[in-house]
Amino acid sequence: MAENTIHKVIIIGSGPAGLTAGIYTARANLNPIIFEGTQPGGQLMITTDVENYPGFEKGISGPELMDIMRKQALKFGAKSIFERIGKVDFSSRPLKVYTDEGKEYLSQTVIVATGASAKYLGLKSETEYRGYGVSACATCDGFFFRNQRVIVVGGGDTAMEEANYLTHHASEVTLIHRREGFRASKIMLDRVEKNPKIKFMLNTVIEEVVGIKEDNKKIVTGVKLRDVQTNEITDFPCEGVFIAIGHQPNTDVFTGILDMNETGYLITKKSSMETNIPGVFACGDAQDFYYRQAVSASGTGCMAAIDAERYLEAME
Ligand code: NAP
Repeated sequence: MAENTIHKVIIIGSGPAGLTAGIYTARANLNPIIFEGTQPGGQLMITTDVENYPGFEKGISGPELMDIMRKQALKFGAKSIFERIGKVDFSSRPLKVYTDEGKEYLSQTVIVATGASAKYLGLKSETEYRGYGVSACATCDGFFFRNQRVIVVGGGDTAMEEANYLTHHASEVTLIHRREGFRASKIMLDRVEKNPKIKFMLNTVIEEVVGIKEDNKKIVTGVKLRDVQTNEITDFPCEGVFIAIGHQPNTDVFTGILDMNETGYLITKKSSMETNIPGVFACGDAQDFYYRQAVSASGTGCMAAIDAERYLEAME
């Protein structure tokens, strides 16, 4: 299946980076096509209040912010397609992208804004109980743990945000972190420290998630914890395990095609968002392993759009 149209801009991804690139390229009359992927709106769709996106003095919910951004892009002529790109071919012109169903789309430029996904610890038991007590999204699953005991793993802003949020539902929240220092910003850590429903267990890691498996039923009943200083193992009873240890860029599709660092973040040229392939640009959390904010993703989305526009101008 193929279409003959050669588009000017194809955007892969629909978080703040992709949708901002959509707004800019649409306003430049480039009629961008935005492939929204498996999580339209990206990671902000599973965030509660966004308090640091400029322009929203009172804060705004993540899904609402993404809804506004999408409407803004569509208003100027961007087209949204709710499919995932599973393959690309950048070896010749026009550039080619393929949906999971195998449909081919052609374009002069491609903006990669595929974002990142939550990381897990990699324990077998964690995988076994994923969706049955183990989660990486408090906003999505917190509700299921009403008046129950939950733990949150991690020491960054995500862990702080998840722990705070979970106090609205759970009876008890314990934050488990593998060392004493935190990556979290002071303001987020302060909030957690002041929250009487949250307890800390530092220098501690999860060795195993334990639970009950009966017929079709699976429930978490606790975790085995290890003190990293003494190696002592203890059983800790809880019904929910929230993993909040960072993210992995969604760049598998570009392996061997676009330059990336050892953890998979796409590499762009200095002072531009262009990748090693002319006409292919990368932005947002797929490219930025350092700032990883909604507003910085929007910023690099804008930059990638302007770079694509100038690239197209130079081709004329
Ligand atoms: P992060 O800052 O990279 O923190 C990840 C945390 O998980 C670290 O404390 C790390 O421990 C721990 N960790 C990593 N792998 C682990 C493992 N295998 N076992 C146990 N612990 C592990 O990630 P993040 O919290 O997702 O934040 C990412 C970015 O998003 C940051 O820039 C953050 O500011 C931003 N963010 C902002 C907000 C907000 O402003 N509302 C909310 C969420 C995130 P170590 O410290 O020991 O490495």
